[in-house]
Amino acid sequence: MTKGNVFQGIQTTAIHAGEGPDPATGASAPPLHMSSTFVTDDVAGFSAHDLTPDSPYLYARWTNPNVASLEAKIAALQGTEACLCTASGMAAATAIFLTFLSAGDHVIVSDVSYAGVAELARDTLPRLGIDVSTVNLSDLAAVADAIRPNTRLIHSESPVNPILRLTDLAAISRLAHDNGALHSCDATFASPLGMDTVALGIDLVMHSITKYIGGHGDAVGGAVAGRAELISKIRLEAAIHHGGILSPFNAWLIGRGMATLPLRMKAHAAGAQAVAEWLEAHPNVVRVMYPGLPSHPQAELAQAQMSNMSGMISFQVGDAAAGAAIAQDMIEKLRVIHYAVSLGHHRSLIFWMETAGLMGSSFRLTAAQEENYRSYAGDGIFRLSVGLEDAEDLIADLDRVL
Ligand SMILES: *Cc1c(COP(=O)(O)O)cnc(C)c1O
Repeated sequence: MTKGNVFQGIQTTAIHAGEGPDPATGASAPPLHMSSTFVTDDVAGFSAHDLTPDSPYLYARWTNPNVASLEAKIAALQGTEACLCTASGMAAATAIFLTFLSAGDHVIVSDVSYAGVAELARDTLPRLGIDVSTVNLSDLAAVADAIRPNTRLIHSESPVNPILRLTDLAAISRLAHDNGALHSCDATFASPLGMDTVALGIDLVMHSITKYIGGHGDAVGGAVAGRAELISKIRLEAAIHHGGILSPFNAWLIGRGMATLPLRMKAHAAGAQAVAEWLEAHPNVVRVMYPGLPSHPQAELAQAQMSNMSGMISFQVGDAAAGAAIAQDMIEKLRVIHYAVSLGHHRSLIFWMETAGLMGSSFRLTAAQEENYRSYAGDGIFRLSVGLEDAEDLIADLDRVL
């Protein structure tokens, strides 16, 4: 098995890293290993503490050949030493929090983030004695103010779900490191190809691999990538002890999807740029958020920090009633785009996200934070994940309902 990024280009890396012809059969495509246990000639050593990166396969919760292959592929594309795959993106976020935070510690998370992560941080972590501050991470002075002597982790997300606000990740890394904390970043929206997270100083980068990495909407999974020393800590806690591992079959499916990630990300970005420009020119559209548009409030940061603008667009059409009526129309009239949650698939997906509902359930923002949110989203936005269909077909579909 090829470990690490030994290839010149990202397309070769996406295809060949972490895999090779099967030594037993010569199979060119990776075989699927569903075995939960592995025959060993080692008489002892059942404790997870005995695990080293060179340990032979022992039991599938430690690791499995298909999962190990996917982990090597993700680490190679992300440019990190190591990676751990998990049962879902939420399991990846939980893995980071529960490995690096203990009772009495303090964590700073983005005031706006993926709803599941927002709720995990607000509801679960305080119950475990972990102090949580929710801060607008695009406001560096606010982040600096929020840091305390017991701050162990800053968890960012960029671009942020669902408003596509960006975070200056290099600046957050510096703030974290100057204060003895780690910086973890949820880069699901950007994919591993959207940002050089190592150069940005990020210690741990997580992805919902349900999204762009898998890319086909047929398998749920998560990943955390970073330095080997940090990832082996997470493997011990999150995989071996908490047990939220990725199944071999999902690893096999997601690895197959990942081989075309560089090609897909180019097509997602090109499609999204065309759709975003069309939306911006539409008389019924109030505001479009897409990092590739010059109108994005952080367009300069996007150009500096992102090498691929990805396929996520949010747009406002008016007040909550107008949005809800259009959403109902979408359910009835869209022929190409699916009205569904999730993102990063080859099929385009759209979903209406009303501001008042999100404020009550997931975000619970202060007045100033909510004002910032509303400056992007108004009373609500449509979150559109531009798939790999022809942009003309997506535009024709949106034209039916806007
Ligand atoms: C989907 C998503 C998650 C959660 O991932 P699951 O695979 O659904 O558990 C976390 N963060 C972001 C940004 C996401 O889009």
